[in-house]
Amino acid sequence: MEKVTSLAKRRGFIFQGSEIYGGYQGFWDYGPLGVELKNNIKKEWWKSMVYGREDVVGMDAAIIMNPQVWEASGHLKAFSDPLVECKICHKRFKSDDETVIKNHEKEHGDKSDWTEPKQFNTLTEVFLGTTEPKEKAYLRGEITQGVFVNFKNVVDSTRVKIPFGIAQIGKAFRNEITPGNLTFRSREFEQMELEYFVKPDEKDSEKTFEDFKKIRIGWYESLGIKKAKLRFHDHEPEKRAHYARYATDIEYEAPFGWSEFEGIHHRGDFDLKNHGLKYRDEMTGEEFVPWVIETSGGVDRALLFFLIDSYSEDGERIVLKLNPRLAPYKVAVFPLLKNKPELVEKARGIYKDLKEKFNIVWDDRGNIGKRYFAQDEIGTPWCVTVDFQSLDDDTVTVRDRDSAKQVRIAIDKLPEYFQNGLK
Ligand code: ATP
Repeated sequence: MEKVTSLAKRRGFIFQGSEIYGGYQGFWDYGPLGVELKNNIKKEWWKSMVYGREDVVGMDAAIIMNPQVWEASGHLKAFSDPLVECKICHKRFKSDDETVIKNHEKEHGDKSDWTEPKQFNTLTEVFLGTTEPKEKAYLRGEITQGVFVNFKNVVDSTRVKIPFGIAQIGKAFRNEITPGNLTFRSREFEQMELEYFVKPDEKDSEKTFEDFKKIRIGWYESLGIKKAKLRFHDHEPEKRAHYARYATDIEYEAPFGWSEFEGIHHRGDFDLKNHGLKYRDEMTGEEFVPWVIETSGGVDRALLFFLIDSYSEDGERIVLKLNPRLAPYKVAVFPLLKNKPELVEKARGIYKDLKEKFNIVWDDRGNIGKRYFAQDEIGTPWCVTVDFQSLDDDTVTVRDRDSAKQVRIAIDKLPEYFQNGLK
């Protein structure tokens, strides 16, 4: 974890939020490489969950909604975590964070004296308006409600018919008691969610739930997360969120233990019913409150786990073995020598052409070996080197990140070569 944290900062993936002012607990900033990785994760998710399906449309709701939304959704009452206070040092913790609790007890020589757990609401309050007292509103604690309150708008404005889904990616905010493990538990984070509406039928909805479990775990596997590091964890009834009929988490075996990074929830009719919304089948005239199967993944947690899972060391070489589709840069282009204008000119030409098609990077610092190392560390799948032979026969070497092997390829075949590698 320390190595990944240090790499994340050193190479511009993740910075501590407001760092020059001492940081701000639970807030993180994504640097030039982090934003690319994050955008690629979101792009892949959208491709799989929206463009790859005929039964899903997307939307993007506002972060702040009428406070009545949170009343109806049950969040004002029940969106809470169990808080305990250490009677020795008065620090406060989330009592079901077992590892954190144990680590804290170690700080007191394994002595423990805790208060009884109290429910602590994690919705973040904001105050709006120009007259005092200002109106209290909330930063959304989950992006989900923005979809539910627009259910009728989407049905009326599109041709969707049950079963169908609405997908959304966006920021959520929680006043977490114990933010920590880099971005794992933040106060501001992003979610990528699908709300899938089905007929209220026990058996069919269970099948949809099972199908989405497979789809979602398969997505992480298809992007390279090691199978052995993934598992489902069903929620025991007492741990389920207030809206869930049943729920399972997709967990990753992080250095800090098995940890959730996506929840799959059967929300039943809880939300639509509370918002007073219904669906009318145009063919039969039948009216009912649909049931909802939700897949709710964290973009920041996925990014953290992609970084951890792809981190590897090969002697002195640090390699981020990211799936090429996720890699911030797809290709790095170098002239073999910086002080040979004919090599630089040829390499610049290739760089310019490829840059129109892929996110790529130029590097002419230090020697070739150092440049390869620097690209391996940020997960760039291919490095193109223009050497003296390139001037004669219009070929270049393409070095593969994972095998460190080089092949010679005609310059005009490069786009096709990388396109194939990105499939
Ligand atoms: P946890 O039990 O870890 O607090 P949760 O069960 O409350 O998570 P959900 O409400 O199911 O989480 O939210 C769906 C997803 O949103 C989570 O799987 C996670 O990836 C992400 N998420 C939730 N809270 C945070 C947070 N504080 N920081 C980063 N991501 C989060």
